[in-house]
Amino acid sequence: MRALPGVSAAPGITVGRAVVLDRTRGHASNLVREADRAGEADRARDALRRAASDLETLASQLRTDGRGDDADIVETGVLMAMDPELIARVDTLILDSGIEAADALREAAEQTALELSVLLDPMLALRADDVRSVGRRAAAHLKGDALHVSEGVLIADSLGPADVAELAPRVRGIALAGGGVTAHAAIVARSLGLPMVVGVGEGLLEIEDGEEVLVDGDRGVVVRQPDAERASLARTDTERRRSAREIAIARRLEPARTKDGYRIRVLANASTVAELEEATRQGAEGVGLMRTELLFLEAMEWPSHAEQVSVLRPVLSRLQGQTATVRLFDFGGDKTPPFLRGITARGIAVMLNEPQALKAHLSAVVDAGRGADLRLLVPMVTSAADIRSVRDTLTLVLEGRGAPMVGAMIETPEAAEAAREIAGQCDFLSIGTNDLTQLVLGLDREQSRKAPVLDPRVLGLVAATVQAGHDARIPVDVCGEAASDENSLPIIIGLGTDELSVAHRSSGGTER
Ligand code: PEP
Ligand code: MG
Repeated sequence: MRALPGVSAAPGITVGRAVVLDRTRGHASNLVREADRAGEADRARDALRRAASDLETLASQLRTDGRGDDADIVETGVLMAMDPELIARVDTLILDSGIEAADALREAAEQTALELSVLLDPMLALRADDVRSVGRRAAAHLKGDALHVSEGVLIADSLGPADVAELAPRVRGIALAGGGVTAHAAIVARSLGLPMVVGVGEGLLEIEDGEEVLVDGDRGVVVRQPDAERASLARTDTERRRSAREIAIARRLEPARTKDGYRIRVLANASTVAELEEATRQGAEGVGLMRTELLFLEAMEWPSHAEQVSVLRPVLSRLQGQTATVRLFDFGGDKTPPFLRGITARGIAVMLNEPQALKAHLSAVVDAGRGADLRLLVPMVTSAADIRSVRDTLTLVLEGRGAPMVGAMIETPEAAEAAREIAGQCDFLSIGTNDLTQLVLGLDREQSRKAPVLDPRVLGLVAATVQAGHDARIPVDVCGEAASDENSLPIIIGLGTDELSVAHRSSGGTER
């Protein structure tokens, strides 16, 4: 056994044969002889053409499955594979430097990705992993194995959205040498219930194809050649997650009720199309928390109205007539994009300091949410004045469009203490137990995800918030991790919460 520590990006434990997607680093490449270089460059160009054709096929398959927005994303990969600049880079690496075709494809893609990642346009910056994935796909064609991945544990340096869309059905778990917990791939892995560990480092790419590996997404560790006991625990965990999902899907149309008949709405925490689709499959009754900031964490400047609509619309258009709770950008802390580096404020305070950005954001959310039962959720509220300010700006931007409901996250001790006054300004309240627990008990954020939300100091504030909401005749929901936690759930419901918003793995119409 050999343990490689990383960072947990999606929970669950799994074991299987390693399927190594790329080895962009850590191996010596042979130089191509001058006489062979023109032929090698032809092979590389042919591989790019085949990668483009793969992506075209994948996009049309996604379209047939009714996943037009995912198809659009994948189709941009076709343009990338045919980009004359990328082809010129590959040629130069092979013809001038004698680099082998597969390495040249990956290296040229890496150069393009690095250029994209420093661009001011946040949408282009987000495409960096996509172009890496195009390079890798083309390189895989040269080995003759393309991305015909057999079922197993995916080991890679980084992943693009096309890889995830295509490979997820056959993949049991994912480990990345690089990546971050908020990377697109991590969000999708969480939504699909795939255990994932990221940031393992280059040692990960030393794993051999077919070697037995265990991905422990709960502890953030990858184990090479695990012993029998550990492997068997992982198999049990995989089986447990699979059957829980099947039960949720089978009972998706049943309303969620406690054993004593208390009806509680179960909404999903979902920020991407993949998360939403999986949550809907499992019976979610709408979205209770869309973390918009996660979609713009790489942004190099405030995203424009059009950019925001183009990112939010694919998710919100799937929620026609259903509850769509869109949280305003909760930037700051561990969710600070490059253009806000160094700020000390968090959540709505950041937006209130930037009135123009707040206007564009509100207007984009209202436009992107047309047709849905839209609820705007204000993050890191500390007083009723925060809500009044948001409402004032909202009135300025509505221009005849219907007014959405406005609610406050109750996730700071100040907000919990002012819950009555805040409730008076709101159409609903949503308790964020992750931040609330951390701030009340003075814990570290990561620790507080599993922290004792059942501590009486926290529960007292939850109870007071529910009471304040009900006195103001507005619904109160819980959208922090405590809503997904079997131990906290009965108590949270017992305190009179009206709605739960949970990560999809825990949503569904089951009786508890
Ligand atoms: C919370 O704090 O409980 C919450 C749901 O917000 P986030 O986890 O996005 O900070
Ligand atoms: Mg929070």
